[in-house]
Amino acid sequence: MDFDLSEEQELFVKGVRDFARGEIAPLCAQMDREGIVDASLLDKIKAQGFFGLTFPERYGGVGLGAHTYGLVIRELARVDAGIAIMIAVHNSVGSFPLLQYGSEELKESTIPRMAQGHLASFCVTEPGAGSDAAGLTTRAERTDAGYRITGEKIWVTNGYLAQYFVVTARTGEAGPRGISAFLVDRDTPGLQIGAKEQKMGLRSSDAVSLVLDGAEVPASRLIGSEGEGFRIAMSSLDGGRIGVAYQGLGIAQACLDSAARYALEREQFGARIAKLQAIQWMLAESAAELESASLLADKAAWLKDRGRPFGKEAAMAKLVCSETAGRIADRALQIHGGYGYSKDYDIERYYRDVRVLRIYEGTSEIQKLVIARKLLDEYGG
Ligand SMILES: Cc1cc2nc3c(=O)[nH]c(=O)nc-3n(C[C@H](O)[C@H](O)[C@H](O)COP(=O)(O)OP(=O)(O)OC[C@H]3O[C@@H](n4cnc5c(N)ncnc54)[C@H](O)[C@@H]3O)c2cc1C
Repeated sequence: MDFDLSEEQELFVKGVRDFARGEIAPLCAQMDREGIVDASLLDKIKAQGFFGLTFPERYGGVGLGAHTYGLVIRELARVDAGIAIMIAVHNSVGSFPLLQYGSEELKESTIPRMAQGHLASFCVTEPGAGSDAAGLTTRAERTDAGYRITGEKIWVTNGYLAQYFVVTARTGEAGPRGISAFLVDRDTPGLQIGAKEQKMGLRSSDAVSLVLDGAEVPASRLIGSEGEGFRIAMSSLDGGRIGVAYQGLGIAQACLDSAARYALEREQFGARIAKLQAIQWMLAESAAELESASLLADKAAWLKDRGRPFGKEAAMAKLVCSETAGRIADRALQIHGGYGYSKDYDIERYYRDVRVLRIYEGTSEIQKLVIARKLLDEYGG
């Protein structure tokens, strides 16, 4: 059940569900095998406006709020979690820094193009700086025309196809206050895009490394002010985490759907396995956990939509939805028995796809640090 949706929002979400089932589902196995999004599907996704879901209408976007957007990501992830994260990264961490902190000139010149499908990416992680994002070593030196950026980024989702790269780099002192954020164009001299990672899951989405070898970036591409980059990245991740939470809910729903259907078909000992209490318990636990995780994601989105602080709730939603989705995928595979271990069944893909949700946009351990910090603040700590 979805709370608080207008008829128009419900219709929008239903349209996405129909699109996912009609256009994405037939291509999932092929994209998983080949490790790339299907080109004709990408065109259809652009035509549907999915690359402007969260952008204001004045920039050619759809203007969805966090809750409706989350439900859209859930519907996409229910069919293909790789497509869901490609769209989610673009609509959140890849574009939010510009929408929230960019100059009007920068927004005018980039956001309408992004809404049309010029993909955006978010480049924070480095070989030596993952959870410790403030420990980055990429440097941006001032030049007469702007900045010269040198360093390496890894795990850049969408980077293989992206036109735009939001890059964090050090412009000042050690630590978070010395970091700035830049928008780097794909055709910037000195930007080299590496090969695609051979990932365990989410194979319809790409992730690449980047080498910035003295990449020349005009001063107009600084997002916000010098020294604001870490804050920009962290506040972008707050919103991004709500998307990851809904991505987890989508995969979990797909797992529950598959497990329940399979349990009703499969017979052992002369009866359907759905009759077995051991199987029913697994289904019941999964259904109850899915419902409670959903409420947490909805609350984080609800707060965001009302302009209220939501960072703690977003971290809680990301933590709980991703961990819950992992458990539900595990039970669903168990219900499938040996068939679940075969590529003939979608559950094998869901099981691989779900694993990374506990890692990206902050690991589960980092979510707990974020929650504890905010919680202790509330107690005056
Ligand atoms: C498929 C995929 C896509 C990604 N996409 C992007 C992207 O688009 N942009 C981007 O910038 N990054 C991206 N990432 C990177 C991702 O955000 C990092 O992998 C993640 O933040 C963890 O960093 P790390 O891998 O370096 O692990 P590490 O930070 O080295 O962590 C290793 C382990 O130590 C634990 N740990 C570390 N510090 C602490 C601590 N203080 N307390 C407790 N435990 C701790 C971690 O939880 C983890 O279990 C992506 C990663 C993957 C796998």
